[in-house]
Amino acid sequence: MSQKFDVIVIGAGPGGYVAAIRAAQLGLKTACVEKWIDEKGAPVLGGTCLNVGCIPSKALLESTHQFHKTQHADVHGIATGEVSMDVPKMVARKDKIVKNLTGGIGGLFKANGVTTLQGMGKLLADKKVEVTAADGTATVYEADNVILASGSVPVNIPPAPLTEGLILDNAGALDIDETPKRLGVIGAGVIGLEMGSVWARLGTEVTVLEAMDEFLGAADKDVAKEAAKIFKKQKLDIKLGARCTGTEIIDGKEVLVKYTDSEGDKEIVVDKLIVAVGRKPQTNGLLSEDCGVKLDERGFIFVDEQCKTAAPGVYAIGDSVRGPMLAHKASEEGIMVADIIAGHKAQMNYDVIPSIIYTHPELAWVGKTEQELKADGVAIKVGKFPFAASGRAMAADDTDGFVKIIADEATDRILGVHMVGGIASELIAQAAIAMEFCSSAEDLQLTVFAHPTVSEAVHEAALAVDGHAIHIANRKKR
Ligand SMILES: Cc1cc2nc3c(=O)[nH]c(=O)nc-3n(C[C@H](O)[C@H](O)[C@H](O)COP(=O)(O)OP(=O)(O)OC[C@H]3O[C@@H](n4cnc5c(N)ncnc54)[C@H](O)[C@@H]3O)c2cc1C
Repeated sequence: MSQKFDVIVIGAGPGGYVAAIRAAQLGLKTACVEKWIDEKGAPVLGGTCLNVGCIPSKALLESTHQFHKTQHADVHGIATGEVSMDVPKMVARKDKIVKNLTGGIGGLFKANGVTTLQGMGKLLADKKVEVTAADGTATVYEADNVILASGSVPVNIPPAPLTEGLILDNAGALDIDETPKRLGVIGAGVIGLEMGSVWARLGTEVTVLEAMDEFLGAADKDVAKEAAKIFKKQKLDIKLGARCTGTEIIDGKEVLVKYTDSEGDKEIVVDKLIVAVGRKPQTNGLLSEDCGVKLDERGFIFVDEQCKTAAPGVYAIGDSVRGPMLAHKASEEGIMVADIIAGHKAQMNYDVIPSIIYTHPELAWVGKTEQELKADGVAIKVGKFPFAASGRAMAADDTDGFVKIIADEATDRILGVHMVGGIASELIAQAAIAMEFCSSAEDLQLTVFAHPTVSEAVHEAALAVDGHAIHIANRKKR
């Protein structure tokens, strides 16, 4: 008889591994299937996020930010002499962090009693799961509940086919081991901007080609405008309305990139080209024809707001379902689903999911943009506070950007918070907490913020909603 579990999770990314740990914590007999293996044939846990996504990119961003700060340390009176970067050492540090974290998940699985099943998981009818191991052996397991957490893969584009060492996707981009003189990036989204920043800080000439005419179309326009100004100062050459039409490899060591913009056909030559045009759900080989799960018109697994698929007892979470492709969204869905399976009441607030771009300064937002709210006909009031007026930001020599808070004109409820700033990724959590608790701007105005902190900019922006910020001139007409 085949082994039976209360819950089988397919995929050990931040959606799947978190769901598996929560399910096991709630007393459910849980297995997690992962197809990714290392050179020794052992399962690689952590998915895109830990292995080739959030964590390695942030390790490289931090290293290059430290490099940049050291280069500019003279502002504090620190003389450093010439600063240099040992790129292989930087990449090795990144690899070590990845190894520590992914290994840590194996430890958490053991500690919580989650069974790891190595292999390609396929959902069959009646919540059976076939797992085909790397050696080709297939075993069928039974489960009362299945959670599909198969994640996503990069989108490739025909004009720029991946070419070893020259045309790279996001995984290849994280392993560049010497500073390229010229780097091309296709796509001015999160990944493109983060990877472009890493290399621009090390002196690479970076050109970003973005097919859309608008920069950061999903962000609040104030954030997009400020970011464009700052990236220009940082010498990230972002070309909008520039569609890549083809590539040629020159002498096996350079890439000729052809693109077209409003002025016609153009070309650039780069040493490496990163393709960062987005990601698509990964469902190849995941679903048998009779499993009952349906895909939507864009290839995502179709789910309701509780992540239930069309097949009873089968759930899907993370990048393979609708909604933002973000690790924290995947993890929270995993927790919600495990709670539902264990019989608890659970729901997720899709209106309050923070988005962050970890350039420097960082861009972060939660809730609706001013443009969305105006388009919806909502009467709003806006408060904005620049970091240039923050004593702590001045002390840190990190004064670019602002905090913008948008509140409902009638109820004062906070509807959106948008930031550009050195540690916006940390500050945005304050906004998310406030919005989760349905705070008004006044609630933040009445909260005592420690001085001197960068967080005071959140307080001041809340005060500015009513024209009461202290450290800028913002009096509203009565
Ligand atoms: C360069 C980069 C930087 C990023 N930075 C951030 C960031 O800073 N913050 C953020 O929130 N998000 C970031 N993301 C996005 C984030 O990585 C994803 O949103 C997140 O990993 C999605 O989690 P998931 O569990 O749904 O899928 P994944 O992490 O993709 O994991 C899916 C797992 O399922 C396995 N799998 C798939 N199919 C099967 C199968 N049939 N059988 C067995 N196993 C299977 C895969 O091997 C994989 O391990 C970044 C992504 C990239 C590429």
